[in-house]
Amino acid sequence: MPVALVTGASRGIGAACARALAEAGYDVAVGYARDADGAAATAAAVEAAGRRASTHAADVADEAQAGAMVEAAEEALGPLDALVLNAGITRDGLAVRMSAEDWNAVIDTNLSGAFFTARPALRGMLRRRAGSIVAVSSVVGLTGNPGQANYAAAKAGLIGMVRALAREAGGRGVRVNAVAPGYIATDMTAELSDEQRAGLLASTPLGRLGTPEDVAGAVAFLCSPAAAFVTGAVLSVDGGLAMA
Ligand code: NAP
Repeated sequence: MPVALVTGASRGIGAACARALAEAGYDVAVGYARDADGAAATAAAVEAAGRRASTHAADVADEAQAGAMVEAAEEALGPLDALVLNAGITRDGLAVRMSAEDWNAVIDTNLSGAFFTARPALRGMLRRRAGSIVAVSSVVGLTGNPGQANYAAAKAGLIGMVRALAREAGGRGVRVNAVAPGYIATDMTAELSDEQRAGLLASTPLGRLGTPEDVAGAVAFLCSPAAAFVTGAVLSVDGGLAMA
């Protein structure tokens, strides 16, 4: 059976990706930072779909912890066929007032964390000449957003990383892509004011916020054989927001 590791899978988009990949036939390693109960719930959902699951606590911003997570996932379930780089945080604030700590925390987790997780997984995929990596970027990485200079930089950086890795790994049959979600109803966007929400809906052609399942469907597609000739792509999952 194919094996996937999803980081940040204790809740939100990552948990939905884990469930969608389980439905698609993957055994799933569930990465998380602190929420062991959430990770266990995701693992239970994977098992309810008839697949094997394991859970792995790691701060992806720490290179050693990210590497140990990949190693532990492969020990538990077998070599990775798919990797979803989803772990992420926000520390919003206008640039003139943004602390170096908030800048660094977001770059370290959202960008360096993805690289620290991708690199050890990629080594095995290159050896086996197969594999698919999907990074969860954001519409904000394409358009920018006031108050999110750190987050926009990290998410744009992920797109550059994905395209570089796609060029490095394509010759060995390993595909590397990104999804760029718009505004998705999760803990991360729960703080939006009514005014912000109304503004977003007005500029989203499909007229609603996304669901974690909307993103998970695109991620599962990019991992699947249906996307066998897709690499270095950025798939917007935003109801048309980036186009608007
Ligand atoms: P969320 O509900 O806040 O979940 C974040 C996940 O990341 C949790 O599982 C969390 O683990 C994990 N995480 C945070 N810091 C970590 C670290 N240092 N090491 C390992 N794991 C860590 O977020 P979400 O809305 O599902 O977002 C998931 C991804 O989609 C993020 O990369 C986000 O930037 C991106 N995205 C979200 C939206 C949106 O509108 N929600 C839009 C575009 C892109 P714990 O639960 O253990 O803390």
